[in-house]
Amino acid sequence: MRTRLLLLLAALGSVPGRVRVAVRLRPRNAEELAADADFADCVELQPELKRLKLRKNNWDSDTYEFDEVLTEFASQKRVYEVVAKPVVESVLDGYNGTVMAYGQTGTGKTFTLGRLGEQDTADRGIMVRSMEDILAEISPETDSVSVSYLQLYMEALQDLLNPANDNIPIVEDPKIGDVSLPRATLVEIRDQQSFVELLRIGETHRIAANTKLNTESSRSHAILMVHVKRSFMGGDNIYSNENGDISHLAKPLKPLVRKSKLVVVDLAGSERIHKSGSEGHMLEEAKSINLSLSALGKCINALAENSAHVPIRDSKLTRLLRDSFGGTARTSLIVTIGPSPRHRGETTSTILFGQRAMKVENMLKIKEEFDYKSLSRRLEVQLDKLIAENERQQKAFEDEVERINIEAENRVSEVERSFADALEKERLKCQMDYMESVKQLEEKLVLNQQQRDFDVFTDSNCIGQAGGSVEVLKLHKILENEAHQKKKLEEEIIILRSQLLQLTFEADQMKRYLDGGGSGNAYTGLDSSMSPFRHPQLKDAVNGQKASIATLFEQVGLQKILALLESDDANVRIHAVKVVANLAAEEANQKKIVEAGGLTSLLVLLRSFEDETVRRVAAGAIANLAMNEANQELIMAEGGISLLSMTAADAEDPQTLRMVAGAIANLCGNDKLRMKLKSEGGIKALLGIVRCGHPDVLSQVARGIANFAKCESRASTQGTNSSRSLLIEDGALPWIVQNANDEAAPIRRHIELALCHLAQHEVNAKDMISGGALWELVRISRDCSREDIRSLARRTLISSPTFRSELRRLRIEY
Ligand code: ADP
Ligand code: MG
Repeated sequence: MRTRLLLLLAALGSVPGRVRVAVRLRPRNAEELAADADFADCVELQPELKRLKLRKNNWDSDTYEFDEVLTEFASQKRVYEVVAKPVVESVLDGYNGTVMAYGQTGTGKTFTLGRLGEQDTADRGIMVRSMEDILAEISPETDSVSVSYLQLYMEALQDLLNPANDNIPIVEDPKIGDVSLPRATLVEIRDQQSFVELLRIGETHRIAANTKLNTESSRSHAILMVHVKRSFMGGDNIYSNENGDISHLAKPLKPLVRKSKLVVVDLAGSERIHKSGSEGHMLEEAKSINLSLSALGKCINALAENSAHVPIRDSKLTRLLRDSFGGTARTSLIVTIGPSPRHRGETTSTILFGQRAMKVENMLKIKEEFDYKSLSRRLEVQLDKLIAENERQQKAFEDEVERINIEAENRVSEVERSFADALEKERLKCQMDYMESVKQLEEKLVLNQQQRDFDVFTDSNCIGQAGGSVEVLKLHKILENEAHQKKKLEEEIIILRSQLLQLTFEADQMKRYLDGGGSGNAYTGLDSSMSPFRHPQLKDAVNGQKASIATLFEQVGLQKILALLESDDANVRIHAVKVVANLAAEEANQKKIVEAGGLTSLLVLLRSFEDETVRRVAAGAIANLAMNEANQELIMAEGGISLLSMTAADAEDPQTLRMVAGAIANLCGNDKLRMKLKSEGGIKALLGIVRCGHPDVLSQVARGIANFAKCESRASTQGTNSSRSLLIEDGALPWIVQNANDEAAPIRRHIELALCHLAQHEVNAKDMISGGALWELVRISRDCSREDIRSLARRTLISSPTFRSELRRLRIEY
């Protein structure tokens, strides 16, 4: 039960413990053997009873009990084991511990504590044996031991490891009451040999110092301080379960350090204090002899009597031992006595001192600290490991991404290659089929011709014959059929030719795309900024096709191609519209197409077909035709704007929207169409297209708006327009302002121009200010990368009174 209580208290950090006191009797020395030969010893020891009888006279004695009674035969080993070993063990467990020797000079204090035992190992004293046990117990990797060795004489603390260092101050931690000597030399001990050497050096310095001060070592205290620091992993919560067992809570262990200290004090000879006391000397005299020792006695008395005031602060020694004696440490006191009856007084006094000390209760406290340093070290190591691991994973991830990329690229190029091959094969096949068909048709044609010649010949032979008219009618019928057949075959030839042309064109595009890595457009025509579907890089490809198109014109005839636009066969229609779109890309063909009624057919396609491909290609063709001013008027006259608006409203594909926006944008550039465009919903249609958001589409919208604004400003300058901008009327301003600083350069450029044009007409100024366009104009005049637009914006701003007054109002310097 008591063990459990102690364990529990130990777990809580403190244990109460009385100062353990042993008494040791020195054997008679030579002088005593001679001088006291006829006298009995003044003490009689009963070690088995742990009792000591102090003879008062021949017939009377007092009996005292001690924790240990050590006779003159007690070995140094036994003395160490009963007096110091429990203290050393306690120090290794993290408590402070103190071993002190008290007694008259010559009774064996130094013998007990300080013997080095170099001649005879059995002689080794407590200091040497303690260090042996400590060094054997600790682990050199995680723990450390260091010592200071000091002498206290006449209230001055002197460093025995560095005698020049005297008058060392004692520093007390006011919070935990810990005592330290920061200026004392602290030597780390790694092996027993160096410790013994250190003790020897200390002893030499002690003798030298005492010689110098003309004093005896018996008048000074020698203090050895052993600091033990141990690291371990531990939890901080302990509880006792139903069975009373102590268990650690399942908390993660953390690194802790336990710091403890063992203080071994070889006190000055007690005879002086005794003398001063027994002979009734004044306290002051006692003080002058050995203040520290008398203060120790007073403290022990006060502690033994549980007195409210313990005069710890009266001396250096008591201050130094405040956390050791009567404090929070495990303490053993060995009182040494001599046998001689001549010193009965001294001996009695020593025994009484020991008896009083036995009543002193100590409270043990474990000194445990959280080892932040080692935790931080461990965390750092862990962190480094994690960083390295993270780096490895990152690298693996990047490698994997790269591998997948390469694989994907390989696959894409493989697919592209096989596609190109397939296309080429298809093209060759078509060519073969075509040639075969032409051959067959020609053969048929020859046969028909022969047949007809023959028929004509027979007919003329039959004239006049009976029933001849019936034959003629029959022959006419056959002829008609043949003619019909021929027409159909010719149509087929046209289709096949246009298909071949288309395929050749597409194959060529693909080849160029694969060779050049660029993107192609099947409806590419001339290089012109007015066309929404042209690509400068493809000019060569286009030129390459000119010959084919010319051939097609010659071989087939435009009328026939246009007639195919109305074919019942959807496939034929698609091919035909593609061919027409390609033809319309050539400026030279545009007029011809329009004259042949191609524009009307294309507009019809916009109206009548659900298929978005057809509408997209048709819109593209119309956009190309809309590059020409005369055609623009024609498109408007034929209701083109509403058809384009309808197409825009239905279209999903950005390409279709781009074509439609391109066509309207071209129409917007025509001064004559301005009012009609507005009234027929052209501007609204253009603004509706912005829903798509594709930059190519937006660029066409912006171009249309810029074109329109330009026409308006031109009309204003010429005095033919005095009203507010139709663009503003139709609500284009918010989109313009919103996209004025678009990151796509073409969009930005068109809008910047549009803003400059709008700003030229004073009647628009108010709307522009309220719509936030003024800021954009200021920005354009300052930041636009194109010098001409910048200065246009600046000129516009300066020339408008409304803008100027607004800028003044806003205090913008202009
Ligand atoms: P103190 O330090 O108390 O003044 P010392 O330790 O110097 O006394 O002892 C005085 C003398 O007595 C020394 O010569 C020492 O060797 C001897 N002595 C002391 N104790 C014993 C003992 N237990 N056995 C043998 N000799 C002893
Ligand atoms: Mg001594």
